[in-house]
Amino acid sequence: MDDEQLARTELDELYRKFSSSSQGLSTAQAASQLKLSGPNIISKARGESQLKAFFKSFSSMMAVLLWVSGVIAIFAGMSELGVAIWTVNVINGLFSFWQEFAAKKATDSLMKLLPTYAHVYRDGKLQQIDATQLVPGDIFSVQAGNSVSADARIIESDELEVDESALTGESLLVSKSSAFAKGAGKFAYSNLVYAGTTVASGSGLAIALATGMKTEFGQIARLTQSTKQVDSPLHLELNRLTRQLSIIAVSIGILFFLAAVFFVKNPIAKSFIFALGMIVAFIPEGLLPTVTLSLAQAVQRMARKNALVKNLNSVETLGETTVIATDKTGTLTQNQMTINHVWTKESEYEVTGEGYVKNGQIREKNKPIHLGRHPALKQLITIASLDNDTEVQPAKSLKDRPKIIGTPTEASLVILAQKSGIDLADLKQALPRIHELTFDSRRQRMSTIHQASDGKRLILTKGALDFVLAVTDRILDHGVERAITDDDKTEILAANRRYAGDGLRSLAFAYRSFEDDSDPKTYHVSNCEQHLIFVGLAAMSDPPRPEIYEAIRKAHAAGIKIIMVTGDSELTAKSIATRIGLVSESARVVTGAELSKMTTDQLKDALAGEIIFARVAPEQKYQIVTALQSMGHIVASTGDGVNDAPALKKANIGVAMGVTGTDVAKDAADMILTDDNFASIVAAIEEGRVVYADIQKFLLYILNSNLPEAVPSVLFLLSGGTIPLSLTVMQILTVDLGTDMLPALGLGAEKIEAGVMDQPPRDRHAHLLTKNLLLKAFAWYGLWGSIISTAAYFFANWTFGWPGQALVSSGGDYRKATTMTLAGIVFFQIAAALNARTQRTSVFKIGVFSNYHIDFGILFEILLLLLLMYVPFLQNLFQTGPLNSNEWLLLACIPVPMVLLEEARKALVRKYRHAS
Ligand code: ADP
Ligand code: MG
Repeated sequence: MDDEQLARTELDELYRKFSSSSQGLSTAQAASQLKLSGPNIISKARGESQLKAFFKSFSSMMAVLLWVSGVIAIFAGMSELGVAIWTVNVINGLFSFWQEFAAKKATDSLMKLLPTYAHVYRDGKLQQIDATQLVPGDIFSVQAGNSVSADARIIESDELEVDESALTGESLLVSKSSAFAKGAGKFAYSNLVYAGTTVASGSGLAIALATGMKTEFGQIARLTQSTKQVDSPLHLELNRLTRQLSIIAVSIGILFFLAAVFFVKNPIAKSFIFALGMIVAFIPEGLLPTVTLSLAQAVQRMARKNALVKNLNSVETLGETTVIATDKTGTLTQNQMTINHVWTKESEYEVTGEGYVKNGQIREKNKPIHLGRHPALKQLITIASLDNDTEVQPAKSLKDRPKIIGTPTEASLVILAQKSGIDLADLKQALPRIHELTFDSRRQRMSTIHQASDGKRLILTKGALDFVLAVTDRILDHGVERAITDDDKTEILAANRRYAGDGLRSLAFAYRSFEDDSDPKTYHVSNCEQHLIFVGLAAMSDPPRPEIYEAIRKAHAAGIKIIMVTGDSELTAKSIATRIGLVSESARVVTGAELSKMTTDQLKDALAGEIIFARVAPEQKYQIVTALQSMGHIVASTGDGVNDAPALKKANIGVAMGVTGTDVAKDAADMILTDDNFASIVAAIEEGRVVYADIQKFLLYILNSNLPEAVPSVLFLLSGGTIPLSLTVMQILTVDLGTDMLPALGLGAEKIEAGVMDQPPRDRHAHLLTKNLLLKAFAWYGLWGSIISTAAYFFANWTFGWPGQALVSSGGDYRKATTMTLAGIVFFQIAAALNARTQRTSVFKIGVFSNYHIDFGILFEILLLLLLMYVPFLQNLFQTGPLNSNEWLLLACIPVPMVLLEEARKALVRKYRHAS
């Protein structure tokens, strides 16, 4: 059937076609259907791009240069050299392909950590299942904030509006209902919804018609698999860096080529190969894949710390974050609500017990109460029970926790009702619900309308105190509904202030009964939530998360400002914020109402100091984020609801809640917290800083071998050939594409260095390659490497009789001399890898060999060197020869003074507090 038919068919016939009913499928039916239709997944075919990536790693500028050089070498009669160059090139290509592949795999697997759920009727009961298990014929609910899991036909709906822009590109919201209508365009059926779209508001029930790749979205995905990845600023900078260094390398190469031909009078082919050595020495070939892999590894580390980053770019931005704008409830606190106090005009009550279990009592002056004697309390509990969409399922076993289907706030009310001993089932039967005015964070209220047996109707409302008082004109006082006075209000506000001062959240309750028999669909906020009768307050605790104190301390030490942006009241917000060390007593609290009247300049002024935002609507977060950005801040902002999406998109790092967040928020975000925990944001920022530092570390490492590699050629040229090449082209290739590779990779996985969170955030415009880093690479590390390798070379010649005789230029002794130079560089690089591990911390403090990636890299380096020196075939290719024990001893000593020298420098840096 096509869409037209599916939209027009009678529902009963659809049920029959899918062997379903208005009660949905049975578990057994769903299981057998799942075998037929397959899991509800949009699969990605990316075989092609794999192959492309493979060829790409063999066609970089440097790879092409090496291919060509190999050809030239062969034509010039140096076929062994040609083959060797190609071999090195292939190995290098495979290695970078593997790096890219590993990086991709690491990031791909992350999204599996974030399941999406569907709410379906199975065996006649509403159940939450993994959305991949949804099958055609399932009846499922569609809810504001969530994405639609399958192509489906609407069975019933309540002010349902969907955002189909993912499918149609149109950003206008579309109303959906069970009635058939057809507009213009392919997807314009009013009673069909499509997978991949999201529900903007309202709710409904639908029957799944198609799942997985059979959905419209799946069909489109099949056609347009290759979504283009945007290059991050980091990648752009690395590209620029590679290009600049390549230009320098090629210029030097040309210069050396000309000098070799005209000055030293070398044959052209030999001069070319010689110049090639210089070019290869200076091009940072492994840079891009190594960076990609280290970013991907950072992303995996973040995931282990409960922060899922959707895109590698964000890793970098995280490291630059200067402000975190965060929610309170659930992010800073545990979202574990327990009602502790109830206030009515008659009395005040304490509630004992904790958590989502029934053990506890409602007490008045330390004595248990009898509900029948407290009409106002009874009324409050009635409202709390009925004006409530949450179900608490008791723990099934001792190890289990009670399960909440709904929100923690409402769950605490369910538990309060249980503690009061009221019979919920009876209550629901006596007062059936006929309509609901759902909670929204702008109005901060929720109401339900019920049909009483005496023919009257009842509106039950709960919400934030100020927002409930605003629609109240009477109060329930000892069984009498009378006008509310200013004195009453003062009394209520005083009670509320007491609770809020203790960091408790409060909820107010009100009701009204009226005679009416009109269609419940005509009830709206404007005609219902007015002239209410105030009943009382319930105050609930929501303890701060235990890890929050340390996370806030860390963020502050790292120069990151934290701004609480909450829908909760000023007093509660401030009380919690000061308690957890977020702000001091003198912090300013700005309410949403004040914020809406502020000019941009006033807002910026306020943002410069300590500040908390309370009673703000999610939409106002956008305004706060924008103002912060215009002040030059890099902003991370949290959110969970549909209305948070604009702020999440606007923020440099949008952070969505993985547990309580809506699909819309998760879609809009750059990072998702699988535990909703503020501390995870700080952990991710720390990783973001670390990975940037790591990239600089291996940049330093791969750059510092350039000078030692270049010195032999310079000496050769300047001496007009009197000093023979102490390092052959193949040996340069060996260092650059062989021995340096794994230790460099290991530096990319270097762990957190003490102090990364004791510095202010990195300047967003600062370049990766700083003057300091260049100085360190060339004038410090590079200098020592050059001295050592050159010394090793002259030492070898000295043992052969130099300076009494000329420097050796061929034969076994020459090979031994070049081998000493090569080995000198390799052993120096061993020290360099260990030195580069930290910027200022002593490497002894973190344990010299504590990064096993590097240790393994060093072993590999030595192994490779041994192979080159002792395998006859390789000896010929690489112009190497065996060394004796004295020479080995000398080499083995090199790393020790090098590490100590660097330790001295780091100690000086620490002492004088200069940045590295
Ligand atoms: P936050 O998550 O920042 O604490 P919310 O926007 O979730 O703030 O809630 C704002 C206020 O709305 C709460 O302080 C509470 O008084 C009220 N509220 C929250 N949930 C409900 C609900 N389900 N029904 C009625 N009122 C609610
Ligand atoms: Mg909230």
